[in-house]
Amino acid sequence: MPRSGPRLGIFGGTFDPPHVGHLAAAVNARHDLGLDRVLLVVANVPWQKVGERPVSAAGARLELVRLAVGDVEGVEASDLEIRRGGESYTADTVAELLDEDPSRDLFVIVGSDAAEGLPTWERVEEVRARATVVVVDRPGGSWGPPPGWEVRRVEVPRLEISSTDLRQRVVDGRPLDYLVPAPVVSGIERLGLYREPR
Ligand code: ATP
Ligand code: MG
Repeated sequence: MPRSGPRLGIFGGTFDPPHVGHLAAAVNARHDLGLDRVLLVVANVPWQKVGERPVSAAGARLELVRLAVGDVEGVEASDLEIRRGGESYTADTVAELLDEDPSRDLFVIVGSDAAEGLPTWERVEEVRARATVVVVDRPGGSWGPPPGWEVRRVEVPRLEISSTDLRQRVVDGRPLDYLVPAPVVSGIERLGLYREPR
């Protein structure tokens, strides 16, 4: 449902760690859709990943996202889900952002791999009713929306980069340079993240 206020993108993730795939998706979605801002919303407890692997502390992931965005215009790290605490559901994030300013026009941005899980999201109908769902095409994903769904597609350069691979690189002692912004490389070292195989 389009609203007349600021156009705001919500790009949620675990960001463990953030990488240039995330950043390229965020800036291209912002450009293509004419968004004022895109928030990189750091999940407090990413319910989809619970039980799958240990996730780094939310504060550490937020710090890395802040380092990653640097001073790129219109892209910001958001601690909204961390401040809210508990499991992170996009439906709650959408509700909170509309409570703050009901005129906002919200765009929920997901990669095509994450989009496959959309039908299983908590209160997904609420998300669809209150925001435009945007799918960013990611290598390997050949995603089609479920029947009856209206989604916007954004084409981004396909960057075959994942946080999973980056964590393994740290374990193996392989370089992260150019796959994540330089301040993130230093941040990962300083925080001592990903050294132990998980
Ligand atoms: P992991 O390997 O731990 O799952 P990830 O790289 O997939 O990490 P997430 O934090 O899980 O990163 O993803 C957050 C969002 O970013 C998701 O919507 C995901 O689809 C999207 N995304 C992640 N990597 C890319 C990429 N290289 N290009 C486009 N979108 C991406
Ligand atoms: Mg992922």
